[in-house]
Amino acid sequence: MSDRVQGEPMDMDRHDFELDELIERIKSNDNRLVALQVPEGLKMQALDMMDAIEEETSAKIILAADPCYGACDLVHDKMQRMGVELVAHMGHSQMNIDSGMPTQFINVTYEGDPAIDPVLPILAQHHAIAEQRLADAQSEQSVGTEEAHERFLDAVGRVTPLTGTKLGLVGSIQHLHLIFEYKERLEEAGFEVEVPVGGARLTFPGQVLGCNYSGDQDDIGHYLFLGSGDFHPIGLVLHTGKPLAMLDPYSGDAEEMSFERIERILRQRFGLIMACDKAQSFGILIGEKPGQMRRTLALRMKKMLEKHGKKGYLLALEHIGPELIDFYPVDAFVNTACPRIAIDDSVRYAKPLITPFELEVALGEKQWETGYQFDEIP
Ligand code: SF4
Repeated sequence: MSDRVQGEPMDMDRHDFELDELIERIKSNDNRLVALQVPEGLKMQALDMMDAIEEETSAKIILAADPCYGACDLVHDKMQRMGVELVAHMGHSQMNIDSGMPTQFINVTYEGDPAIDPVLPILAQHHAIAEQRLADAQSEQSVGTEEAHERFLDAVGRVTPLTGTKLGLVGSIQHLHLIFEYKERLEEAGFEVEVPVGGARLTFPGQVLGCNYSGDQDDIGHYLFLGSGDFHPIGLVLHTGKPLAMLDPYSGDAEEMSFERIERILRQRFGLIMACDKAQSFGILIGEKPGQMRRTLALRMKKMLEKHGKKGYLLALEHIGPELIDFYPVDAFVNTACPRIAIDDSVRYAKPLITPFELEVALGEKQWETGYQFDEIP
């Protein structure tokens, strides 16, 4: 389960849902109406959870059944108008937003702890890459545009200001309770390991979100991601440009986020920027979800478009999908809601859908050659 890609049913026997605290809170508050919000991968089990809570308390539970991909998407005032007194939000951690509703976050942890042996050869290779890049960074003076362009593709991202070659250990939320145990195992295997601590949007050491990799440090030369799927790995490599290995606690498999994969994504992004070259009018998407709403950024994009003699129309939506925007008579869209909508889903849209950084490149305000800037929500 990631903060956004949670469509697959989960192996329920090995997951722990910490409902006790919620039940205690409902009892001590004497809450009568509680909204339960669960990630997509847990929706099949939601009715059992509702039964369990209703049996233990005198509250009635309403399932907030809209899609939910992260704590950015907390149930807010709509449920208040329904009389809901408390929101129980499962499987994501609290972030730096206020939904205006009392909210209890419910941890979900997975007990599987795969052996590190399969991932060690990949980590050794990546450590060697990091050492080479550090040596290059220390020896070089200034870089010409052409060379920067070459290196950009070569280094999967940008010329990062590396100061070390530590292994950064991160994971998705249901595996973070194991992170320091893994740190020890990896140190015993000879790696210098850092569990990065990010900014206010993140709660736990080693935590990453699809829109936030703020724990990255200059002395981290490569990464190990403890989790499944490529959602976080893609974002982390796009954000840092650093090699990344993955260890899947569900299958025990190890693999790396390949250079080819990232290069393909970057080429696709560049193609979309080029497709915006002649665009005169843009829809600027603003997310209405509490943790996705970037009004100031959207207004800045509109102003920038006007400066370049182009039109920007501000469009606010709770959910964003092709069927909701494709029909507007604009040439392209720039997305200020969940950053991953543009990165991961743009092929689903009939018109180019780009990030704010990509619009800046399209308008000549920023340079593609000096490095791709991942769209992060701080
Ligand atoms: S805004 Fe961030 S936390 Fe929310 S769904 Fe997108 S990637 Fe996940």
